[in-house]
Amino acid sequence: MQETVERMQAEPRSAPAQRATDMDLPTLSIVAPVYNEGPTVMVFYQRVAAVLEQLGESYEILLVNDGSRDNSQQIIRELHALDPRVKGLSFSKNFGHQLAITAGADFARGRAVVVIDSDLQDPPEVIAEMVVKWREGYDLVYAVRRARAGETWFKKTTAKFFYRLIRSVTNVDIPVDTGDFRLMDRKVVDALNQIREQHRFMRGLSVWVGFKQTGVYYERQERHAGTSNYPLNKMIRLALTGITSFSYLPLQLATYFGFMVSGLNLIFIVTAIILRLSRSQALIGQATTLVSVLFLGGIQLICLGLIGEYLGRIYDEVKHRPLYILSEKLGVDEPVPSARMHER
Ligand code: UDP
Ligand code: MG
Repeated sequence: MQETVERMQAEPRSAPAQRATDMDLPTLSIVAPVYNEGPTVMVFYQRVAAVLEQLGESYEILLVNDGSRDNSQQIIRELHALDPRVKGLSFSKNFGHQLAITAGADFARGRAVVVIDSDLQDPPEVIAEMVVKWREGYDLVYAVRRARAGETWFKKTTAKFFYRLIRSVTNVDIPVDTGDFRLMDRKVVDALNQIREQHRFMRGLSVWVGFKQTGVYYERQERHAGTSNYPLNKMIRLALTGITSFSYLPLQLATYFGFMVSGLNLIFIVTAIILRLSRSQALIGQATTLVSVLFLGGIQLICLGLIGEYLGRIYDEVKHRPLYILSEKLGVDEPVPSARMHER
């Protein structure tokens, strides 16, 4: 792990002076997706603001309301009125966690962007450690979960399995046990913002873009309130997005199955001939036929399903629909090409 974490040595980052026109641009943008987090948003803001005040950097907190059905948006409006450094984007409906992060990254203005869950499972205090690494010259600092509190055995086990599976089947070096909690330098954010694919696995894409990367360890906390908005079906969708975005292996499975079945068939043919010559009655009956037909039928359907998984995603991509639709903006400007935003 150490090897992955400290993969590349980085040059210390000096804090470059900002251009006069950029004086109002924050050093740090905190991007937090919010979906039905009414009871937590205020506490989240307080905890994050306390950490950022201690850091002494200029900042903005961009809360992206992903079509919440509770009072989250009302609280975000109140927070924005109270502290203009709190900014808001509100989606016209629930577009999903990954698109909420995407929108946040599009509108964030900071020289570094920190993506953090708003349910306080990611402790804001870790941001301070990330900033230290960023100052040392790393462009992407991801948070690696050392332990997870208050999560079910099922969630922990499936997550652990998933992170290892995706690492073994994809050609991107996605570090294990990392969620979307990470700090990204402006360079990474700009690269990420150019990627406009519909089915997005942000933690994979932010690694895919390259640059100098490192990790910090943390212990994932219990939710401040409420329950997870990631039921099993959403987890499976995200897992499929992660795998199909970075790997063709499922498509190649048909070939592997084909070789396997042909190999088995060869053995079966030889056995059948021998039995026939020895006048054995062993192969009489429908069971053998039935088993082989069902076995092959199953494999063929699985392969079709896998092709369908890719086909559906290709269809979504060619439709070129906007990634998300906003219904409200609080304190944010339209995204501009960041070359004009920050002098680096
Ligand atoms: N979230 C979101 N849209 C969704 C589901 C979740 O914006 O459709 C947000 C949620 O408010 C939280 C973060 O994404 O800040 C992670 O979601 P959750 O805590 O439900 O997932 P878990 O931590 O259980 O994996
Ligand atoms: Mg959570």
